[in-house]
Amino acid sequence: MKSESLNVLAIFAHPDDLTLFCAGTIAKWAEEGHNIYALCVTRGNVGTLRTDLTKKDVAEMREKELRAANKILGVKDTIMLGYPDAGFIDGVKLRESLVYYVRKLKADRVITFDPWFSYEVHPDHVIVRRMAAEASAFAAFPLLYPEQIKNDVAPYACSEVWFMGLLGHVPNCFVDISSTLETKIKAALKFEATLELLAQLFAPDIDPANVSPEELKKLSKYAERLLKSIAITLGKKVNLKASEAFFMQKVLPGYFDNFQQIMMELLGNPPEPPRIY
Ligand SMILES: [Zn+2]
Repeated sequence: MKSESLNVLAIFAHPDDLTLFCAGTIAKWAEEGHNIYALCVTRGNVGTLRTDLTKKDVAEMREKELRAANKILGVKDTIMLGYPDAGFIDGVKLRESLVYYVRKLKADRVITFDPWFSYEVHPDHVIVRRMAAEASAFAAFPLLYPEQIKNDVAPYACSEVWFMGLLGHVPNCFVDISSTLETKIKAALKFEATLELLAQLFAPDIDPANVSPEELKKLSKYAERLLKSIAITLGKKVNLKASEAFFMQKVLPGYFDNFQQIMMELLGNPPEPPRIY
């Protein structure tokens, strides 16, 4: 980690994505003095099995949850692009917006889903991770979207992309989140709509379309246990008490700087040992 403060831009599809996959890291970087920006592409407005809510109700509820969680994590600003949920994103338009935010916020580090993880059915995750990776690599080119370049917006070379969650490559970075795991859990428990969905995983006796306050408490306990067990399992890999894992790529204009690494792997060498942050 460089000693000066970095601008970190987390780009994700739905209000709960960031918190579930990298909140421990985000909280740690915020504590270290880095500027954290969270950009949520959709309103997440179909993310419930309840039938008593409209899309507008769900969108408002989930934005409120996201803002409350981000406050706990120390996020400096939350940007909502406002796309509808579940498969209505125009990728080319989205890339243009993301290039704009990489430039405007001078994002040194982008954190997003991994475009090379294969088993992903959600169309929003598929398009967002791809466009976030492209925007990080292309924001440096002045002839791309030149109309954006005025006032405080200039071409900007993002240095690193960190892929979070389920990865298409073995992790090459582990972040020690032993000091921020509790903060992550506190933030994650703000997402009631997500907790309700967890009923199908942990508590078949609970109807996810009609969760009582008592049942929500039960689901919160299950979610806490799940997040702890993931963090501990990842931590064990690298002798940490709790960890989040990433595949980090250095960014060159228009490319990722992974030529040497890929050549070594093509020749049958095992991946380099992961870095610990
Ligand atoms: Zn999502």
